[in-house]
This record gives sequence, structure tokens and C-alpha cells, in this order.
Amino acid sequence: MNTKNLGFINGENLHFMNTKILDFNIFNGSKKQLLHSIFSDNKKYHIVSGNPEVLSIALNNSKLLSNFKSENTIIIPDGVGVVIASKMVRNTVKEKIAGIEVMQDILDYSNRNSKSVYLLGATQDTVEALKQKLNIIYKGINICGIRNGYFNKSQEDEVINDIIKKKPFALFVAMGCPRQEEFIINTMDRIECKIMMGVGGSFDVISGRTKRAPKWMINIGLEWLYRIVKEPWRIKRLSVIPFFILKVLKDRKIKI
Ligand code: UDP
Repeated sequence: MNTKNLGFINGENLHFMNTKILDFNIFNGSKKQLLHSIFSDNKKYHIVSGNPEVLSIALNNSKLLSNFKSENTIIIPDGVGVVIASKMVRNTVKEKIAGIEVMQDILDYSNRNSKSVYLLGATQDTVEALKQKLNIIYKGINICGIRNGYFNKSQEDEVINDIIKKKPFALFVAMGCPRQEEFIINTMDRIECKIMMGVGGSFDVISGRTKRAPKWMINIGLEWLYRIVKEPWRIKRLSVIPFFILKVLKDRKIKI
């Protein structure tokens, strides 16, 4: 049984169960429990949208792998592939938790509690459109900084220094995996920030530049199919899913 101390709720120390898939502890609670526990302590958190693609990349990336095992990192089961894997290891996650929905809930919380957010990633047009959109959705939200995700190594210090200066409560990084996770891992000790989260294509979706799948498709676990139809180049990226499932199967056999 794997537990991770995720803070206090109403004075009670909560130990949520995790589901162990390969080398990863996947959060096994509801989205509500996740948010409640993150907001009720003073710890710094790196939230990872754990889908098979991200986890497969991490298996071959020592920096990601060691960070993903840290106490400050919470891997949420984002994607039907991880839900299936959790069933295979006979410790089914409580629910699939979409990274984009966690981001929206953190934005809502930040707005209601006068906390600042920093948006890093996507193209300049998209991140500006996102800022405008958020100002409409969450009236009065404190967006303390925005920056597009297309900068080179020589500009990185300038980007990091701006975030250090702004001290955001939440930093959302939308630069695709592994770039966004590597950026967070490389900077999390230097940045005074409560929540850091890699959010992939979420800036494109929330800004209205691309559409998320209809609710009925999300509900039956077919969001990936919608994305392939809309962006066929993604099919190559999704080919990692069968390999991931196979790895989980092999790992399960070894452990039985
Ligand atoms: N992106 C970026 N910098 C880069 C490469 C990508 O800011 O060097 C942005 C890109 O504009 C898009 C997001 O990262 O907004 C890519 O998201 P992707 O579709 O890879 O994420 P997914 O949702 O599949 O995790």
C-alpha cells in the first residue's frame, strides 16, 4: 500500500492512497480531495498530468523520474491509459483527473482568495488571448505575469528572474512535455511559488484557440480520439500507449 502525506483537512492529517504504476505513485483520490489538501498546507507542489505519454517520457529521463518520486510532486491520473493501467495493477484510481480541470479550479481558487498566477507558455498571441479570456471568466483575477513559451537558452534567465520577482501563488507552464516539466524542476527551488503545474495544450483550449472534446466523449474516455481527428499528427505520439500498457503488464507479472 502506498500513501503520501498530503496535508491537513479540518485538523486531520490525511494520508491518501496512491496507486503504484511502474515506478510512479499515481494520486488515487478525487479531484476535490486533491485541491483541498493542496490548499490546506504550506508545502510547495509540482502537479504532473500523468498520462501514458508523460510517464513514458519520464521513464527515459532521469531528471523527470527522480522528481516524479519526490514528496512535493503529485502525479494525477490524467488519461484513460493510466486508468486502464491502474485496473491492471488491481488498484483502480478513484477517478480520472484532467489537468486542464485542475488548472481551472486553481484559477478559480486564486481569484476567490486574491492569489496571483503566472502564465508561461504557448505562442504570444495565445498567452495574450488567454489573459484576456481569464479576465472575463474570473473578474479581478491577479495575473502577475505572462510570457510565451518560445525562448532560447540565452533568454531563460530573464524568464526565470521575472517569475522570481513576481512570486506567483500558481505558475502554469504550457510548453509540452518534457520541456515544461524540466523548466519547473530546474527552477522550483528558486521560485517562491505554491503550485507549479505543466499544462500542455491547456492555454490553447482555455483561450479558445482550440476546442476540447465534447463532454460525452470526455465522459466515455474518448478525448484522445477527438484530438487525433482534429490534429492527426498526434497519432504518432499516442503510439506510446500500447507500449506503456505492455510495460505495466510485464511489471505486474514480475511482481506476482
Ligand atoms: N509550446 C511552447 N514552446 C515550445 C513548444 C510548445 O510554448 O517550445 C506550446 C505550444 O504552443 C502549445 C503547447 O506548448 O501551446 C504544447 O502542448 P502539447 O499539445 O504538446 O501538450 P499536450 O496537451 O499534448 O500535453
